[in-house]
Amino acid sequence: MLNSCCDLSPAHVRAIAPYQPGKPIAELAREMGLDPARIVKLASNENPLGASPMALDAVAEAMADLARYPDGNGHELKTALTVRLGVDATQIVLGNGSNDVLEMAARAFLYAGTSAVYSRYAFAVYPLVVQACGATGIEVAARDFGHDLEAMLAAIRPDTRMVFIANPNNPTGTFLSADVLRGFLERVPRHVLVVLDEAYDEYLPDDQRSPSVSWLGVFPNLIVTRTFSKAYGLAGLRAGFALADAQVAGLLDRVRQPFNVNSLALVGATAALSDTGFVERTRALNRLGMGQLVQGLKLLGVDFIPSHGNFLACRIGNATAMYRRLLEQGVIVRPLGAYGMDQYLRVSIGLAAENHQFLQALESAMEERK
Ligand SMILES: *Cc1c(COP(=O)(O)O)cnc(C)c1O
Repeated sequence: MLNSCCDLSPAHVRAIAPYQPGKPIAELAREMGLDPARIVKLASNENPLGASPMALDAVAEAMADLARYPDGNGHELKTALTVRLGVDATQIVLGNGSNDVLEMAARAFLYAGTSAVYSRYAFAVYPLVVQACGATGIEVAARDFGHDLEAMLAAIRPDTRMVFIANPNNPTGTFLSADVLRGFLERVPRHVLVVLDEAYDEYLPDDQRSPSVSWLGVFPNLIVTRTFSKAYGLAGLRAGFALADAQVAGLLDRVRQPFNVNSLALVGATAALSDTGFVERTRALNRLGMGQLVQGLKLLGVDFIPSHGNFLACRIGNATAMYRRLLEQGVIVRPLGAYGMDQYLRVSIGLAAENHQFLQALESAMEERK
């Protein structure tokens, strides 16, 4: 007996566990009666320097044209990306954030009866987009919280169409070297797409960054994704992109909404791309902040997973209780229970003062627990 239209939603849709975003500052201020100006949010790997100033100027100027539809082909942003990355415009798919291109990749290749492989503790969006297509997700056990590429290779079945890899990975911060990745790509069957999510690529030292863009010519089954949300500081604007073989890119484009990237995001991302000084400042600040947090956590005797991103996963014991104690002190971090890491909190690297506030709040919450 059917009770409502909702019962007719496919089982694979009803089974989806919604993505849990970081708590917004305004929400915590409302809930706890705190002054929003004194709340520190280190929960979503956002850029503590804010947005690229060049992007902000470009966005302000573009406001005058909001009555017009955006350029559905994103010509200017694609041109800037071709110059920067040495790819052809036909190899670029623009997204409303890189989550959008991850979803397009899934929708272009996955359906009921196919499967996709991803690692345990990998980015939560992979299982979501796979499930939304009615495909089967194959979660592979992690090695030291990172991708076990050998096991992922072995997990590929005849019905597997896609493998997701985050490098560095969120929320664990683990990293795979170029050699290891390339060796993996060489052994993956050519009909299986490999989505290499490089959302934190800009945070890596130059000698650790994979030449993934140059691999596109060698591996037509490779999709590289990048974002303007992290090092470029444009998380709220929503812009990201995929790079792939032109034919693969063409398939992603077929499931793309015609105006998926809004006009402010297009001009903001284009300007941000040329703001190399901002990205440099971001990297330098992140390096310092990582050192500050690592040192502070060691002093407190808190274990953590060494990270190559702009965040650290800390082992806290009862992380849910600690998360609440930190909230009470106006510090928002991310509990990782949804990732099956009940004992871990993920903290994003902030400004020096924000990192300090987090460490102090953590110390006093740990005192309280004793
Ligand atoms: C933050 C993040 C993204 C970026 O998402 P956007 O939709 O571009 O904001 C993609 N992948 C991973 C692993 C991330 O952590």
